[in-house]
Amino acid sequence: MPFSINNDDIKRMAECFNIETESIKILIDDFNKNIKEKISLEFLSHMVSALEKMAREVTGTDLFVIELKPHPEKKKEFSNIFSSKYSPKRFFTIYYPEDMEPKQKRVGIAHELGHLYLLLLLEHSDIINGDEALCSIFSIITIADRCQFYKKESKKYIHSSIQSIIKDMSLLHNTKQGKYNISN
Ligand SMILES: [Zn+2]
Repeated sequence: MPFSINNDDIKRMAECFNIETESIKILIDDFNKNIKEKISLEFLSHMVSALEKMAREVTGTDLFVIELKPHPEKKKEFSNIFSSKYSPKRFFTIYYPEDMEPKQKRVGIAHELGHLYLLLLLEHSDIINGDEALCSIFSIITIADRCQFYKKESKKYIHSSIQSIIKDMSLLHNTKQGKYNISN
């Protein structure tokens, strides 16, 4: 795996950024233990955060959140069910079946996001109708856009190796002055 960080990478980072290897190892362990699994539970997060921002603007509250949660009912009859709950100015919660193939899961979640979009955000909601069908169309447009991103546009964000990431990060460091050029 070209992107699993090995001991040589850790040594390289320690030298480049003048930090103890032990500190880097603690950070990596904590990342793997506490962040990685949480990331795996996020679906369509670009779309979720874009809609969340739009909903905050439309409702005039910075507290509005979109949450995704596995369906609390684990029974078989819920294994195919997506649902959502909307509380004006507070939250939009999507429940998804936990044990479902990820592609199918994303399609269902995108349909539920369509409900929020039609309810709150669509500019011409007064001239089109067909609630459930439109949510499904929204899902198809969303998933097509995301597939396009993964297949084509995401390439410009992908580094070729850990070394190249370290190089880009060190370019942003002003090591001579002992200062960071970005974020402090
Ligand atoms: Zn629906």
